[in-house]
Parts: sequence; structure tokens; C-alpha cells
Amino acid sequence: MQRLEQQFIDNQWVTSQGTRLLPVTDPYREEVIAEVTAGAPADVDAAVAAARRAFPTWRALSGQQRAVYLDGFAEALTRRRDELMRLSSTNNGKVLAEAGIDLDDAIACYRYYAEQARQLDARQGQRVDVAMAGVEARSYQEPIGVVGLITPWNFPLVTSAWKLAPALAAGCTVVLKPSEVTPLPECALAEIALEIGLPKGVFNLLLGDGEGIGAPMSQHRGIDKLSFTGSNRVGEAVMRAAAEGSRGVSLELGGKSPILVMEDADPEQAADWVMAGIYFNAGQICSATSRLLVHEAIAEPLYTALAERIDTLAMGDPLAEGTDMGPLTSARQREAVQGYLTVAEQEGLVAVRDARHRTLPSQGYFVAPTLYRDVPLESRLWREEIFGPLLCSRRISSEAEAIELANDSDFGLAATVISRDSARAKRIGRQLEAGSIWFNGEQLVLPETGWGGFKRSGIGRELGPWGLSAYLEVKHIVGPE
Ligand code: NAD
Repeated sequence: MQRLEQQFIDNQWVTSQGTRLLPVTDPYREEVIAEVTAGAPADVDAAVAAARRAFPTWRALSGQQRAVYLDGFAEALTRRRDELMRLSSTNNGKVLAEAGIDLDDAIACYRYYAEQARQLDARQGQRVDVAMAGVEARSYQEPIGVVGLITPWNFPLVTSAWKLAPALAAGCTVVLKPSEVTPLPECALAEIALEIGLPKGVFNLLLGDGEGIGAPMSQHRGIDKLSFTGSNRVGEAVMRAAAEGSRGVSLELGGKSPILVMEDADPEQAADWVMAGIYFNAGQICSATSRLLVHEAIAEPLYTALAERIDTLAMGDPLAEGTDMGPLTSARQREAVQGYLTVAEQEGLVAVRDARHRTLPSQGYFVAPTLYRDVPLESRLWREEIFGPLLCSRRISSEAEAIELANDSDFGLAATVISRDSARAKRIGRQLEAGSIWFNGEQLVLPETGWGGFKRSGIGRELGPWGLSAYLEVKHIVGPE
């Protein structure tokens, strides 16, 4: 069993000052596969000091020069794709094919920000048109400084890529804290940093939990900005901590995204997209389309098509071919999702398919795919993020009702619209309150398009040029011509 009692600071693995160890499990085999340090505030001090020392030299490089390292990350991840897919799958429980999608997403992200770094050079010193005669104004974009990146456990290597790639492209130096639940895939980033000769101190990786590392990082005045992906509860704590010293935050938080199936949709095709939107990664997706709004005219055929697919969805070893859905990532997450099954029973929800009626694999933290119908609007399952394979649905009788119910949520991360008429789907999409709208498809995330939420789903945007801006300050130099 691997024991990781070290932190990656200044391009060296140094002994952590933490005194506690945290178990890392394989959620299918229910085995502890590693123990990692819980970290300590002194580790944060050392990592921040290293990042601060590295900042002047790193920021002084051109975007062109920094792009070489970002391409290096992409190349190394490509070389190690198979090994890292297996590691992600083992640590997270996601099926191997999904781990492959994650790796490709991360690689595309490093490549995209390599290009963004190159383009940044050309934008420096651009003249701004001003109405006042005889005045010259030029704009510059400069790195914010040392940034603290905190990530969750559902998409290791992806959520970190979305932060690390633009932060490095912008010229920031970094302290990254992966989730203590899935820290193993991200450790590869430290190995890659050494392999590609990234200057020391530019990228520091701290292992640990919220208490040992996350909270001390959020409070650290040597960190100029925090970018956090995770739960609303912790995101709000990070934001409160960042208020001290008036430091900035970007937050990617929870979701309760709707999927609208209109009366002109093909129920068989729609069923495939509904399945992908909720049962991918065992439902542990921030943008999971976990509220199904289906037109009453096709509700019954859609439920039939979904029931057939749920019944044949193969649960099992995520590394085995033919497995469609792996376990939840932790025993804790399984307990949280099971709690919602109890609430559903207390609320008297009607299930088309109920997790409790299905035989589970003999090992692993599984919850079977579940579909509730006619869920009341005030149900906790309709309103709260569950983060598991539980789909809640309601019938709607008009487009206006679908839009109104879709928007009736505290969250606004994503939404999907399914209609044979794509002009109609796009028109509906324009009226939905969410950062990413898909039509006639599901969960298509591209590095060029922005990612982030309306309402309580977050603050700011990742990916695209917006993801780079999150790590840049804007400066203008103005004077007589
Ligand atoms: P979490 O909030 O429990 O943990 C996220 C990270 O914060 C972990 O690294 C954790 O160690 C750290 N942390 C814990 N306590 C902390 C503290 N007091 N201060 C600072 N850091 C602390 O979330 P999770 O359970 O790992 O992930 C699930 C959540 O993440 C869901 O709500 C999901 O919607 C959200 N998520 C959002 C997106 C998005 O893009 N919007 C993507 C993935 C996940």
C-alpha cells in the first residue's frame, strides 16, 4: 500500500508537517489503497512561500514561453493516458471509458490554454479607442499572483486541469489541493512538472483535507486569489475566508439541472440522452440533469424506454469491459444518497424504478439507478442536489410551464432541451437560467466554451477566454499621445 506523507513544494517531495493520515479507498473493492497526510498549516506556509519566490520569474516569461510547459503537460498526460485512466477509475470508481473521456478533456484543456498563452502576448499593449483627442490609452493583462486551487473528487484531473492550465498560462504560480478522497491521479501532475522541467515553485501540490490544508489555504494572506470547485457549504466558507484581505474567489458549486423533453421528441432517442445526463459517473456530476420535465404527451413512452434502459444498465467492476455504472466514490457518498432514498419513502414518492428493489453487486459502494415520477415541487429530492443516480421527473403540459419549472431552482449550472425542432430547442435554451445549455445532446463540455453557473451554482467562469481572465488583472496606461 502506498503511503504519501510528503508534499510537493519547490519541485521536491518534502515531509509533511501533518500528524494525521487519511485512508484513500478503491470504492469497488472497498479496500484502502493508500494513506495520505492530512497536511498542516505549516505545509501551506511552505508552499505559498515557494510560489511567491517563483512568481517574479514565471510572470516575466512570455506567454509563448509558458505555452511550452502547457504543451508539456498535454504530451505527458497523453503518454500516460492508459495508466492514469486506470488510476482514476480505481480511486474514483468511474468506469474505464469515462476515465478515458476525463483524460481527453484534461489534455484538450492544457492544449487550449497553451494556445491562449501564446495569444496573450499579442494582446499586451493594445491601443484602446478613446473619445478624448490627444490621449493614448493602452491595455495590459497581468497575472493576479499566487493562486490557491481547491478541487473535488468527482472528476480528478479534469477539475484541476480547468484551473491549473489557465492559471499557468496567465503567469500565476499555484498551490493546488486535490480532494483527499481522490488524491492519487493528481499526484501525477507533480511527476509531470518535474519531467517537463517546470521551474521550481511554480506548481505546488498539497495533500490533505479541509481542516489540514483547505481552510488554512483559504485564510492565507499570501494567496492572492482562490479558485474552488466543490459544495456550496465549503464554497461559502472559502469565500468568507477570502473576505479577509479582500482577496478574490472563483466558485464552481452545486447544481440541480433540468432536462426538458418536448412533445415532438423521439422517446427512444430522448431516453438515451436522459440516461447519459444522470447515470454517467453514477450521477456524481455537478451538471447532472437530475430533474426531468417531460411533456405529458410522451411521458409514458419515455418512462417505458427509460425503465428498459435502467433494467439493463450493468453495474459492476469499473475496470471490467461491459460495465455501465461503477460504485459511488465513497461510503460516505453512498450513505448520503441512501439518505435521500429514505426521504423519498417518507415523502411517498412514486418510483418507476427503485434502487431498493434491485440486487447490487456483492462488493462496492453501489446505489442502483432510480427514477421517480410526478415528484412534488416541494419535495427535498426535487430541490436539493443529491449527487447520485437518482432522477426525479414531472410531467408538463406546455413549453411555458417547462421553462418556468426549469428555472424554479436555486441553482443554474446547466440544462438540456430535447426537441425534433432544433430552432425551438435553441429558443427555449435562451430562456433558461443556466451557464451551459445543451440541445439534442448531453454534457458536451468544450474547452472553448465557458463553464460556470447562474445563481447559487457559482461565481465566475472557467474554460474559454473567461477561464483565463479569472487569473488576470487588467491594467491601463493612459497619457498624452
Ligand atoms: P467539498 O466541498 O466537500 O470538497 C471540495 C474540496 O474542498 C475538497 O478538496 C475538500 O478537501 C476541500 N475542503 C473541505 N473543507 C474545506 C474548508 N473548510 N476550506 C477549504 N477547503 C475545504 O465537495 P466534494 O464533496 O468534494 O464535491 C462535490 C461537490 O462539488 C458537489 O456539490 C458538486 O456539485 C460540486 N462540483 C461542482 C462542479 C462545478 O463545476 N460547478 C464540478 C464538480 C463538483
